[in-house]
Parts: sequence; structure tokens; C-alpha cells
Amino acid sequence: MTGDSLESLSSAKRLIIKIGSALLTTDKAGELNHAWLAALADDIAKFKQNDAEVIIVSSGAVAVGRQALALADGPLRLEEKQAAAAAGQIGLFHAWQEAFARHEMRTAQILLTPSDTEERRRHLNARNTIETLLSLGAVPVINENDTVATEEIRFGDNDRLAARVAQMIGADGLVLLSDIDGLYSADPSDDKSAEFIPDVTEITADIEAMAGEAAPGNSSGGMVTKIEAAKIATRAGCAVVIADGKEHHSLAAIDGGKRCTWFHATATPSTARKRWIAGALTPSGVLTIDDGAVKALSSGKSLLPAGVVSISGNFERGDAVVIETSEKDRLGCGLIAYSSKDAKLIAGHKTGEIEALLGYRGRDEMMHRDDLVIDG
Ligand code: GLU
Repeated sequence: MTGDSLESLSSAKRLIIKIGSALLTTDKAGELNHAWLAALADDIAKFKQNDAEVIIVSSGAVAVGRQALALADGPLRLEEKQAAAAAGQIGLFHAWQEAFARHEMRTAQILLTPSDTEERRRHLNARNTIETLLSLGAVPVINENDTVATEEIRFGDNDRLAARVAQMIGADGLVLLSDIDGLYSADPSDDKSAEFIPDVTEITADIEAMAGEAAPGNSSGGMVTKIEAAKIATRAGCAVVIADGKEHHSLAAIDGGKRCTWFHATATPSTARKRWIAGALTPSGVLTIDDGAVKALSSGKSLLPAGVVSISGNFERGDAVVIETSEKDRLGCGLIAYSSKDAKLIAGHKTGEIEALLGYRGRDEMMHRDDLVIDG
């Protein structure tokens, strides 16, 4: 276990709670379990009072919509699933809104497709929107945009979607709430000798082999996708908890020590993000900066337009760009907040002049400190 990995839910600064369809609906398939939601909102309100930022990844659109559209039981065709999601998402989000309103918590709905988390430009936008909502004190409620997703480009399960969101926004905790209390050495429903695994510090092939088969029903998850999600998130610096959420106030119970499985993070979110920026990207331009900006960057500050002397290359907002000193020494690289065309217009100017120069109010920074890595 790394010293930085999260030790309890209440110590998380940015917590994602992923909720499976089975928990949100009552036994009468497709009917939302409002009492359960209310209890969860109570727990979330407490985390928020403790200054944690909370993000929900909620399944249930297909389950709710199936009922709303009176679709027959059994597997749905892709277009029926998409229709069900379109119908069900309305009621699903409304239920969240109602549950949070009791605590005067603001909320907002975000529907994502894989390209929103994978493609850099969209990634930057999705990330900024979520960051803005969090800074305004809202609890974003995220689901996959099932209605436009095609089979080939779907996340397919919200466990993986939640892990991608954790990676994108640098969350330090992700709780996968479902109807099983954690990971077992074998499937406990058909192997009575299966042992419970409370802590996982490394996701080895042995751990993966414990996962078994995906579960049937409205949710597409199961232990396989949970382990897959845990792999993505823990590498991104986010601890993952698999826990049983059937009882009311499960989050409070988990925080109080109720049995669950913890997958410990293998990095901090910021080092993991910087590793991703430094490693995975092909730069498409160069920014030359003045000595004042070199000093600012070396002390951990963002790069402002005023410090940029010249720009070369053709790039779009969100692309990777190298930063050089005026002596042409490489200082580092990062994701730029402006296209090369706009960056050239604002280079050397004060942040307050951006709007007049471009005709819109963009980011204050040319490159935010979270988006740049200084070479070691
Ligand atoms: N996005 C789907 C829904 O809202 C659920 C996917 C999943 O359960 O993992 O119904």
C-alpha cells in the first residue's frame, strides 16, 4: 500500500460513487427506490459538509425506461436499449434531483461517450465542465450517453465509465456500490469455500482470475468489469472500494468499517495525470517563454499568455505542446488551452485582454499548471 492511498471514505477529497441499476430500482422492476436514494443523499450531504467533492455515476436509465415504454422482459435489441435509456434517463435524473433538493444540494446531469474521456480536446471540455460544477458546489450525476452510443464505441458498463471519470478529474476515491460486498477468491454463490478479500494492493493475474463471469439482468457489470475499473482507477491514483449498497445508508456504514474490498491506489492522482501527459502524447507545437515565465513555471505556477514570446506549429485546444526557454532549451510539455491561431493572438498580452483580443472569454491561463509537466 502506498502512503498516499486513501484510508477511509471520509478522508477523500474527491469521491465518485457509482451506483448499479439493481440498487436504484425496487423489486418491481423499473420503479425507482426513492427511500434508498434519499438515504444515500443523506450520506452524501455529510461527506460534502466535510468538504469532499462528490460525483455520482448512476446506472438505471435502461431499467427505468424499459418499464416506462412497457418493453417486454428479456434481452433488448440495441435500438430498444437506446430508446429505453432515452425514456428512463429523465425519471432517473429527476429522482436524483429530488433526493439532493432535500439537502439543498445542487446537481447537474452529464451524459458521456467514450470519446469524451479518451479524446484530448473533448476530455479537456468534459473535465472543465465537471470541475466548474464542483467549484459551484454541485453534485454532477453522470451516465453513459446510451442513446447515441453505438455498440462498438460504448463504455458498455458504468464501472469502467466511473473509472475513466476518476482518471479524468483526478478523484482519490471511487466506490462501486452493487449487490455484492466485495471480492471473493471464487464466486461465493456456487463455492462455499470462497474467501473474502478485504485489501488488494496490486491487481495481479490471480486477482483477475477471481472475478468469474459477468452478471445477467439490466446492469452490464459484474466482478470482471469492476476489476477492470479498479485497474484503470488505481493506476490513476484513485482508491477503489467494492461494497454492498443494498442497505440504506451504506456509504456511512462503509465509512464506519463495514466489510468491503479496498483496491489501493498505486500513485497519487496528480503524479498519475502528469505521467499520462508526459508519456502518452505527441507534441504538435512549441511555445517559447520568457525568463519570468520560466521562473513562474519552475515554482509550480500556470503559464499565462503574458509570458509567451513566440509560438510555432499548428495545434488545437487540448493538444500537447512543448515549452522552451528563449535559449531553446526544452522545459517541459503540457496540454494547451488555446488553438495555435488564438494562442498567437494573445501571446505577450495580459489575461485581462483575452476577451477583447479573441471575442470570447477563454481560460485565464495559456496552460494550466495541472495540465503541464516540467521535465525532471
Ligand atoms: N448506462 C446504463 C443505464 O443507465 C447502465 C450501464 C451499467 O449498468 O453499467 O441503464
